[in-house]
Amino acid sequence: MRLIASIIACFICLTYALFAQERLVILGGGPAGYTAAIYAARAGLSPLVLEGEEPGGQIALSYTVDNFPGFPEGINGYALATLMRDQAARFGARIKESTVLSVDLSYRPFTLRLSDGRTVTTETLIIATGASAKWLGLDSEQALIGRGVSSCAVCDGLLFTNKEVVVVGGGDTALEDALFLANYASQVTVVHRRDTLRASPYLQQKAFAHPNIHFVWNSEVVQIEDPEEGKVTGVAIRHVFTHEIRYLPTQGVFVAIGHQPNTDLFKNQIHLDRNSYIQTRQGSTHTTIPGVFAAGDVADPHYRQAVTAAGTGSMAAMDAYHFLNNPTEE
Ligand code: NAP
Repeated sequence: MRLIASIIACFICLTYALFAQERLVILGGGPAGYTAAIYAARAGLSPLVLEGEEPGGQIALSYTVDNFPGFPEGINGYALATLMRDQAARFGARIKESTVLSVDLSYRPFTLRLSDGRTVTTETLIIATGASAKWLGLDSEQALIGRGVSSCAVCDGLLFTNKEVVVVGGGDTALEDALFLANYASQVTVVHRRDTLRASPYLQQKAFAHPNIHFVWNSEVVQIEDPEEGKVTGVAIRHVFTHEIRYLPTQGVFVAIGHQPNTDLFKNQIHLDRNSYIQTRQGSTHTTIPGVFAAGDVADPHYRQAVTAAGTGSMAAMDAYHFLNNPTEE
C-alpha cells in the first residue's frame, strides 16, 4: 500500500515538475507589470504575475492621478491600478499575491523560490518590481516609522487631521503629499534642502497658493523628536549654509525624497547601473541575460511615470513573445 502511495506521489511530483514550468513570469504588480500581463495574455502566453506585497505599486498610493491619458477628470491611483489588474485578468493572466525570496538566473529555465515554499520555473521573466521610497537614514526616523513618521501621505494622512505635519523633499511626490495632507492637517511645512523646487510648475503653483502650506528653504531634517516618547513631537532642522539648528514642533513627518529601485533580488546576477537600476539594451527591455526583460521604474532612473511604465511593460511583453518564438536569435 505504501509503495503504491509513493509511486502515485512520485508521479504527481514528476507531472508537476514537467508541467509547472511557466512560459512567462512577470514580477511586480504596478502599471509596468499589469500592462506586460495584458499584452502577454493577449498574445497567448498565459503569464503568471507575482504581485508582491504592495499590489498596484506606487501608483496605488497616489490619491489622484491627473496625467494618465484617458481620464480627463483624473483618477484615484488605487482605482487605476485595479482597472489595469482587472484588464489583465480578463485576458487570462494569472495574478497571485506572492513574495519571491530568491531567483536563480544562471541558467534557463529560471528558478524562483516563493515565500510559501513553492518553486516556479520559467522560460522568460519580466522584472517589473518598481521602486520604493527612500528614507533620510536617521536613527530617530527608523525608530518612529509608523509612530508619526511615514512615507505615504495617502495611507496615513487622515491620522493627522487638525495636526501640524512636516513634509521633507522638493519633488513632485513632496508637493503632492503636501497638497493631500493640507486637506486634513492644520498646517503643512515643506522642508527642502535647496531654495528651488524640482516639482512640476503646476504642482508648485498649487502648493504656493495653498494657505496651509509653508516652506522652509535650504534646510535639512537632522533629528526627529522624540524616540523616547515613542511619538513625533518635532524636528531639528539644520540650515545648509549657516549650519544653524532650530527646532520645529510637529506631530507628523512625511519623508518624500525619492525612490530606489527594488533590485536586491537580482544583485550579482544581472547588470545594474551605479544607482542599482537594471540596465536594458537601448530601445528595448532586454537585460544582460537572454530571456530576462525589465520594465517600469526598476529600469528607469529618468522618467518614472505610470504611463512610461505601462509603455515599457507592453514592450517587455512583446520582447518576451519574440524571444520565445525566436530563441536562436539571441
Ligand atoms: P525626485 O524627483 O527624485 O525628488 C526628490 C526630492 O527629494 C528632491 O527635491 C531632492 O532634493 C530631495 N532629496 C533627495 N534626497 C534627499 C535627502 N537625503 N535629504 C533631503 N532631501 C532629499 O523624487 P519624487 O518626487 O519621488 O519623484 C520621482 C519621479 O516620480 C519624478 O519623475 C516625478 O516627476 C514622478 N512623480 C510624478 C507625479 C505626478 O506626475 N503626479 C507624482 C509623484 C512623482 P533636490 O531637489 O535638491 O535633489
